Amino acid sequence: MKTERIIIKGVVQGVGFRPFLYRLAKKLGLSGIIKNTQSGVEIIASGDEDCLNQFRKAILEEKPPNAFIREIAVEEISHEVWQKNYGDVLKEIKIVKEDDASEVELDLLPDLAICPDCLLEFYDPKNRRFKHPFIACTNCGPRYGMLIRLPYERENTTMGYFPLCPDCQKEYTDPMNRRFHAEAIACPNCGPRLILYQTKVDEPIAWDREALNLARRFIIEGKILAVKGLNGFHLICRADKPEIVKELRRRKRRPSKPFAVMFPSLELLKKYCLVDEEDIGLMQSPQSPIILVPGKELLPKEVAEGINLVGAMLPYTPIHLLLLEGLSFPVIATSGNFSDEPLIFEEERARKALAEVADYFLVHDRKILRGSDDSVIKKIGTVYIMIRRGRGYAPYPQMLPFSTPMHILALGAEEKNTFTLGLKNRLIVSPHVGDLGNPETFDYFVKLIEEYLNLYQVKSLDFIVCDLHPGYQSTRLAKSLAKERGIPLLQVQHHQSHLLSVLAEEGIVPEEELLGFAWDGTGFGLDRSVWGGETLLLQGLEFKRIRSFRPFRLVGGETAIKDIRKIALSFLFEVYGEEALELSHPLIRSFSEKELLMIYRAWESMDKGAYSFPLCSSCGRLFDAISALAGVCFKNTYEGEAPMKLESLYNPQVKGAFPYSLKENFYFDWEPMVREVVEGSYTKEEIATFFINALADFLWQTVLELSQSKVILSGGVMVNGPLLKRIMESLEPMGIRVLRNKKFPPLDGGISLGQAYYGMLSFIFSKTS
Ligand SMILES: [Zn+2]
Ligand SMILES: [Zn+2]
Repeated sequence: MKTERIIIKGVVQGVGFRPFLYRLAKKLGLSGIIKNTQSGVEIIASGDEDCLNQFRKAILEEKPPNAFIREIAVEEISHEVWQKNYGDVLKEIKIVKEDDASEVELDLLPDLAICPDCLLEFYDPKNRRFKHPFIACTNCGPRYGMLIRLPYERENTTMGYFPLCPDCQKEYTDPMNRRFHAEAIACPNCGPRLILYQTKVDEPIAWDREALNLARRFIIEGKILAVKGLNGFHLICRADKPEIVKELRRRKRRPSKPFAVMFPSLELLKKYCLVDEEDIGLMQSPQSPIILVPGKELLPKEVAEGINLVGAMLPYTPIHLLLLEGLSFPVIATSGNFSDEPLIFEEERARKALAEVADYFLVHDRKILRGSDDSVIKKIGTVYIMIRRGRGYAPYPQMLPFSTPMHILALGAEEKNTFTLGLKNRLIVSPHVGDLGNPETFDYFVKLIEEYLNLYQVKSLDFIVCDLHPGYQSTRLAKSLAKERGIPLLQVQHHQSHLLSVLAEEGIVPEEELLGFAWDGTGFGLDRSVWGGETLLLQGLEFKRIRSFRPFRLVGGETAIKDIRKIALSFLFEVYGEEALELSHPLIRSFSEKELLMIYRAWESMDKGAYSFPLCSSCGRLFDAISALAGVCFKNTYEGEAPMKLESLYNPQVKGAFPYSLKENFYFDWEPMVREVVEGSYTKEEIATFFINALADFLWQTVLELSQSKVILSGGVMVNGPLLKRIMESLEPMGIRVLRNKKFPPLDGGISLGQAYYGMLSFIFSKTS
């Protein structure tokens, strides 16, 4: 007879871990106790040595599907002492409740889509939860958004407001039931209710089933609905009627950014999109993300104008399944907010803020405490790239390949921002928050940081990490937080952070030199100019900049990023000087003569130092320029519009690449390429294809020249499908390992992860140096 204390850390609460342990212990004839603690689950088990060995093995091998074991520690304790103190519990295995004041080391579980077991019950007319909008179990339902405090127990969630009915209570307390301690359970006799409101009217129109049926009818009739789901509000309306989609665009003040589409059934999904089994599997997984997949051009162009991808998803909650039941058309399901503002998840706010957008509100009385946007994944060839990491994925931790004693906070960049908590041996990245330039988003960002520090009970921070850009809101916040708390501030170069985010994911410590390409829109350079086409050699906490794009003077500064004709003009002035004014190119003719001359004078005086405009070496801006010169896009009405439209024109059947040259063995010189686009006669498709191929070739040549066996890719440009595909297809057959972001975005949403990794690496490298 032996007694062991087993301590398990990770995502082990709210996933059915204790009932799993209970059943396992019972099967093996073990006795003892099982309890949730602040840091995970603790078991004290007595039994034969053989059984204990089997027990530990099975914990790792058979754990519940959503559990994530980060650490398992075992120590033998004196059987005699244990028996003396707990003689009565020793006869069997028991689940006990115990408070624990030690430091929180628990990982939070994201909100999860309905699971296969619940789906079966949901469609079984004999089941007491037949078509119940709040069906959930230990494997599915709300988690992250309803947690008030840890540990994860019903009274610590917003489901605590709903007393369990006797039937639910029975399931909840029976360790052999699959709903044992499923904190989110409910049934038609207890738990939340659905309510339907007309906009600006306080009295509800209908409740429960009737509310659903009416809401569905309103969708069919062409109304716009605000629907409260698992993790926030969606705006839902028909996607098959151009005039309805247009009306939603007008009301939401979102002129052209593509909308996500939810398909009521697999049949409809396959009718409208090119999807394979893997895509469908991912769309039906507990994470159920939006996946950008090729469309079949059956949707009205208003859904995603000029883009050949559809942001497709399947209903992932019982509410969505019921609402879309039997519909013969797909619906728009877009975040309930105005462009650039944070996702709305509180009912009161939604009914006020969205009063002019939605005709009806379908809500429920379960409170959501923090929202998370739907995650967005892009499919490129056979690989998936995280574009926006939110519901289903955040805040699962990224484990470090080493351990530190440190607690740090990294604040990321500016747009599509996230923050990261670094706690000892894990990095916890927040869900997508958004653009900090928007005051409401910034306020939410600050509030969410506070909440995370409380939830994870971080009492003190060792330091704060941020970007070098002095104009970022995150940098300002970092400076004031560091001052307030009297702790050091680390500033990390933007492109170094991008590349480090990949190393964090891969668990690689950059002890030897590593080659990386960080191509994106904008990042503050060490020389205070705008970088964005960087080839770096990373080592330790340092990096060497070994290649970049030929810099140009960006006329119009930040305003040019929207009116990208000005970016194209900047390139033309660099190549042709004043003669550009005489070109008969359509882009030149899109300006009046007066306008043109004015812009030219401004550009010219930059040369003479009259304005202190920074030089710009960004690959993203080159995409904008080529897109405008090709006549594909003149205006970025949303971030990435021009590059996305250019990408949509790429044709792998068209062979060839534009010329470029290497200047001073350092700069990728785009001049030969710009001349071709202006002076040659190419179709739009050829321009898009030859341009993207040239970039891939440049990268490939650089790798060959430096004879590297590993290459890191990151930055916003790396979400370009054809570019990434061509790079991988040229490098991988040569045995070169391509390291890239997988679980986190290569966009600025991944910057805080890279910064936090830098922070944790500083512990290692300061120790060794
Ligand atoms: Zn379930
Ligand atoms: Zn009930």
